[in-house]
Amino acid sequence: MRTTPSPPVDVAALLPDLAPLARTTVRLHPRPGDPAAGESSLGGPLLWPAGEPWPMCDGPKGYDHFDEPAEAEVPLAPVLQILAEDVPELPFPDDADVLQVLWCPFDHEPFSSPRPQVRWRRRSEIGEVLAVTPAPDEEAQERHLPDPCVLHPERVVEYPSWDLPDELWDEIARMDEATGESYENDLSVASGTKIGGYPGWTQNPHWPVCECGSRMEHLLTVASWEFSRGDEKRWIPVEDRPAMAGWTWDAADDHPSKPIQNPAGLMLGDVGGIYLFMCVTCPQRTVDYRFDCS
Ligand SMILES: [Zn+2]
Ligand SMILES: [Zn+2]
Repeated sequence: MRTTPSPPVDVAALLPDLAPLARTTVRLHPRPGDPAAGESSLGGPLLWPAGEPWPMCDGPKGYDHFDEPAEAEVPLAPVLQILAEDVPELPFPDDADVLQVLWCPFDHEPFSSPRPQVRWRRRSEIGEVLAVTPAPDEEAQERHLPDPCVLHPERVVEYPSWDLPDELWDEIARMDEATGESYENDLSVASGTKIGGYPGWTQNPHWPVCECGSRMEHLLTVASWEFSRGDEKRWIPVEDRPAMAGWTWDAADDHPSKPIQNPAGLMLGDVGGIYLFMCVTCPQRTVDYRFDCS
């Protein structure tokens, strides 16, 4: 279990205009482990039907804008698997009860980032499960291949930061002054890898619009780190705080804080995140993604 400290003030009571904007996110709190294919995980083995071809990418094999002519069929990497009983809040379509996210670990346009794909599955239809996950391409960078982590889902109420209407910032500045708190750092958007709630944008919001005309909903964020400088007060779980003692930004790789802050060994651009979105209006549940970083 991982527990985010309670908010130091009641935002909705102090600022009623924010109350309707509250959303519950499910922080996944990935931590290094040995998840089985039948468990929810980050970077773990998937419940993949043994008879179904593993997804491959044949796009450009590029990093840092040095695109080589073509990928020779690069296997996608398993990123997230979520079982419905662990996160029933996910809008599973058509009786599906597993969400799987994979991505190509090479940089893809338009964001120069890994390119994700989503699979929704029904466990009763999977049959024999693939026993061995295909090895990643030998040129794929470690920082784009999440190390296996088990998950500790926790519900936290969020309020928008980047997605906040402009006219509310003055009221928030007054609330911060009156309470001595920082809305932006500690009361709004949870950091780290999570389902639902608000996207963990680092830059201005860039919501995808479905071809049906609806703005898509935030499905999940895969973050490089679980928290960054400025997030320490609120977003480090209470269970992890003892291991954070002596934490510094240049701590050695074997410091106990490392698997808490960077559990999967990811580095997406400059501490960036990949945000998946889904249209909940269309029956086909169109998915799109965004990437940004510092
Ligand atoms: Zn690719
Ligand atoms: Zn749509």
